[in-house]
Amino acid sequence: MRKQRKYLSEWTQALQPWIPGEQPRGRRYIKLNTNESPFSPAPGVITALQAEAAQLRLYPDPTCAALRKALAGLHGIAPEGIFVGNGANEALAFCFAAFFAGGAVRGADISYGFFATLAKLCGTAYHTVPVLEDFSIDPDSLCGGNFGVALANPNTPTSRALPRGGLRSIAESCAAQGKVLLVDEAYISFGGESALPLLETLDNVVIVRTFSKAYALAGLRVGYAMAHPALIEGLNKVRNSFNPHGVDRLAQAAALAAVYDTAYAERCVAAVCAARLRFASGLKAMGFTVLPSDANFVFARHPNHRGDALQSALRSKGILVRRFDEPRIVDWLRITIGNDEEMDKAIGALKTIVAPR
Ligand SMILES: *Cc1c(COP(=O)(O)O)cnc(C)c1O
Repeated sequence: MRKQRKYLSEWTQALQPWIPGEQPRGRRYIKLNTNESPFSPAPGVITALQAEAAQLRLYPDPTCAALRKALAGLHGIAPEGIFVGNGANEALAFCFAAFFAGGAVRGADISYGFFATLAKLCGTAYHTVPVLEDFSIDPDSLCGGNFGVALANPNTPTSRALPRGGLRSIAESCAAQGKVLLVDEAYISFGGESALPLLETLDNVVIVRTFSKAYALAGLRVGYAMAHPALIEGLNKVRNSFNPHGVDRLAQAAALAAVYDTAYAERCVAAVCAARLRFASGLKAMGFTVLPSDANFVFARHPNHRGDALQSALRSKGILVRRFDEPRIVDWLRITIGNDEEMDKAIGALKTIVAPR
């Protein structure tokens, strides 16, 4: 294997890929590690997939016109302001290529790890500013200087959201330098304030959303970006240079069906938020520190237990949670909110670990 390394381009040898949370095979775990939905997709999604399968001999619509129109209606913006990608992650990758390649971007030290990977891929200098002691972001720390800015809001793994006023200041500061503010709103259905109203007055704000979390479609791979049409043109240019056929037929049809049943997604989100409240109080009753969460997960630590010990004790009880090795957060666990039964089991397991008697 080592010998064959020479066949890889220098560019590839230098890449630093991001590693997503584990998808276990074999043993069945309660998966609270990758922020998937505990619910099935909307019933209409299954019907739409069956109908669309008959059309698979034909290439998909590379512009995703029907889906973009539906999303435009949902968000009250023009379809020209929407780009659809194979997951939010692809949309983010194309954003880095279109707006940040060869330049410089600022982000938070505790944030979505994929940003650093994309910066490396695109030859972008990635500078981070520390989040505050309570893991919130000080917008002033991201203002000034000749940088683009990339944020997840609500942020992961902290679950904390930056209010819209802060986002506006950052966006205005970027605009003054001719730079883009990229806001990854993967978790916005679960809390926080969307940057969407900023699009009315600012032409340098790009918002990325996903069907993976609130719509329970992580296996489908659909996400989208919203911005001024001129910026969306840039994303199309990048897309047409990588994968001109864009998003496959099944994905477009299923995502469209999901948008047609937003009421279903809203019920799922409401159930997750109710379970989040219950789970967070259960954790606090056991002595955990739990950050206020605007996402479909909580970020928590126990004063008397190391993070890696808690994570592996949970694993041995059949429950997967996520932990990150950055020094500021090694002892914190990011725990996805599943259904009531899963969260009861998580509380039960944690009780035997932190308060055995
Ligand atoms: C889950 C997640 C994504 C990934 O979305 P996909 O549509 O599944 O690619 C992007 N950004 C953040 C912050 C996420 O948590």
